[in-house]
Amino acid sequence: MIYDVGVVGAGFGGLAAAASLAEKGMKVAVFEASNELGGSAGKFERNGYRFQSGATLGMGFEEGGILRKLFDQLKIDPPDMTLLDTIMDIHMPDRTIHYYRERSRWYEEIQRIFPDQSSAIQSFYDEVYKVGAMVDRLTEDLPVFPPRTIKDMTRVVPLINKNSLQLLPFMNQTIEDRLKKYGLHNHRLFRVFLNGELMDSVQTSVEYCPAFLGYAALQTFHKGAYAVHGSLASVAERLASFIKDSGNDIYMRHPIHKVEKSGRHFEFHTKRDQVFRAQKVLLNNSVHNFHDTVSDELGEQSYIQSLKEEKRDTWGAFIIHGGVDGTVFEESEVLYHQFIDPDHPDELHNGGQFLMSLSHPEDLKMAPYGKRSLTISTHTSLSNWWNSDQYEADKEHMKNRLLNTVDFYFPGFEEKLDIVLPGTPVTFQKWLRRKGGKVGGYTPTGKYSWLNSYSIRTGIPDVYQCGDTVFPGAGTLGVTLSGMTAAKEMTR
Ligand SMILES: Cc1cc2nc3c(=O)[nH]c(=O)nc-3n(C[C@H](O)[C@H](O)[C@H](O)COP(=O)(O)OP(=O)(O)OC[C@H]3O[C@@H](n4cnc5c(N)ncnc54)[C@H](O)[C@@H]3O)c2cc1C
Repeated sequence: MIYDVGVVGAGFGGLAAAASLAEKGMKVAVFEASNELGGSAGKFERNGYRFQSGATLGMGFEEGGILRKLFDQLKIDPPDMTLLDTIMDIHMPDRTIHYYRERSRWYEEIQRIFPDQSSAIQSFYDEVYKVGAMVDRLTEDLPVFPPRTIKDMTRVVPLINKNSLQLLPFMNQTIEDRLKKYGLHNHRLFRVFLNGELMDSVQTSVEYCPAFLGYAALQTFHKGAYAVHGSLASVAERLASFIKDSGNDIYMRHPIHKVEKSGRHFEFHTKRDQVFRAQKVLLNNSVHNFHDTVSDELGEQSYIQSLKEEKRDTWGAFIIHGGVDGTVFEESEVLYHQFIDPDHPDELHNGGQFLMSLSHPEDLKMAPYGKRSLTISTHTSLSNWWNSDQYEADKEHMKNRLLNTVDFYFPGFEEKLDIVLPGTPVTFQKWLRRKGGKVGGYTPTGKYSWLNSYSIRTGIPDVYQCGDTVFPGAGTLGVTLSGMTAAKEMTR
């Protein structure tokens, strides 16, 4: 049989697209290399614990949110989840910032933590909310961005209105530029705080972050951050059930090693020498893997150049999956904790700043009773991890650095761990096929870096792409948006 669309990869991007296509009545096949759904927002199980492969914080489930819209459109319920009143606690050597969702509570916290400059910081946040809402309005219609064809251009033109014109000043400035306007660029503590939030959401710091992208990401935390019961993989499972229940196919453990054009359709070759056929292709396995997936003949038709792609800035991740006795955290109801290394507060990666996510104490899908499953992750430079002589020593060093920092803030933590599984970019390459261990899309490198984004178009007729290497970039929210945009274009 010939499918309407073949989707390579069952990450959030691929699943969101496949579900949207299925809902429109298209016959879809999803090919997933691994044994798990959800990719970088998936899970695995060990010793009675469930661990999250990467992403832990759910977003976009509030009224009007991207994932809520998708679930409404499919007429299915999202999994159970806890809306976080405290998005996270940020632990600094001399203080803990409670990052509250609710605006008035957050403004009170700003007054408590930054009393010297609280009104300037509140004004900065007024702008965050205002500009974030404008970006939301612009993305509502799922325009193809950056436009690549005349049709894309004509569809972007109606979006040029009073709302979007107001966005222009934020599209040619960085967050640093905006901080200058509020006299906050030299406020060390606020910069450390903002850099932490921006690294987590946009993978970059104030000086390199385009203002409109940073604002959109910062306001998203306040619209609603969720701990999904059973991990974010539960969301992927719901989407996969919808895809299968509507008569489509998901092939697990089916890595695609070549997609080529054959007559009027495309052929998908699996490692098991099976061949599947489809009229259209959607690649969710990241632009890093593009030229390894499509045939040379197709690759030559694309504007994506492998040499140029390889030179673009990206991060890797160092991750620890752990199981811990629940008593260590019984004093705190907060599930997400960001830590700033007391000795190196300005170091934004390699453990200088990192996030620890704890499972909900009552979520028994994640950990046995009385235990908590945890995920610690920090950005790391990729080049460090491919020297085999140093690998084990470096891994041990980084693991200890992170665990010691948590222990500094929660004394006794290390003793109460009963399983510790560290992972490096090598792990991400092996299990999630992220080439070179690159995760989280491309790092914004300045005010105009967003203009260099890849769109859902590959430049090859009927071959599309989605996921965190495609505009708007990383995060389950961003990749879902790119998947839905790709599906919309494929059904036009
Ligand atoms: C450590 C870490 C923490 C993060 N934290 C958060 C967070 O808290 N909240 C949040 O929203 N986002 C977070 N993110 C970002 C988020 O996880 C990703 O941006 C998003 O999940 C990527 O989705 P994707 O659809 O682009 O691709 P992926 O998740 O990478 O999925 C691609 C899929 O394709 C499969 N595949 C690859 N090659 C092939 C092939 N040849 N054939 C078949 N299948 C193939 C892979 O196995 C994988 O399942 C985090 C990321 C990391 C790494």
